[in-house]
Amino acid sequence: MVHEIGHIIGLHHTDWQTPTANPNNVLGVLINGTWNVDSQSIINHIYNGQPFNGLSGLDLLAIRTIYPLDNGERPLYTYYKNLSGNVKLHAWTGNWNDYGFYSNGFIYRGATGYFYNYQKSGTVPLYRFQNSLEYYYLSIDPNVHLNFPDFQNTGVIGYVYNSHSDNKLPVYEFWYSNEGHFISNNFNDAWISGPGWTGGRITFYVGK
Ligand SMILES: [Zn+2]
Repeated sequence: MVHEIGHIIGLHHTDWQTPTANPNNVLGVLINGTWNVDSQSIINHIYNGQPFNGLSGLDLLAIRTIYPLDNGERPLYTYYKNLSGNVKLHAWTGNWNDYGFYSNGFIYRGATGYFYNYQKSGTVPLYRFQNSLEYYYLSIDPNVHLNFPDFQNTGVIGYVYNSHSDNKLPVYEFWYSNEGHFISNNFNDAWISGPGWTGGRITFYVGK
């Protein structure tokens, strides 16, 4: 039943664009931020005979993208980029068209909650900084560059919350000299296991 409700609200099988599955040749659309195959989705998982065990993260992103809670909300799309050696950097945008799944070396790794393209009540600007090594830094403090002169404020990428309440997710920040600034709404994110990482404080809150 959950699977069929998924179809009713607009989710298709990944082979929807093939003539066999779709004789009327109505093209499906891959929803921004969702991968073409999600083994845990209600469309894939249940179709393969597995019991319903909740909506997958990509189910939620897909449904939330088609039916946003707020017309000005956007996923905080999150990326990394491999530099030379074992060095990486992290980047973020609210505009899927900036990098998509992959562009200019930026590799999509999911969404870190939702933020807004207007100053919704209770939100503050989220600034993106960049330094000479191309490292990015996200902060609600417009003056990060005063303490870290190598970073330049490149502008507001959207609006986030600066305090907690229901339906908001804390975003933790970390730093590693080989990867720069990293954020996650999971304090125990596997990405930051291992030596060299510092930080762990809440830097802002996003919608969930
Ligand atoms: Zn189906």
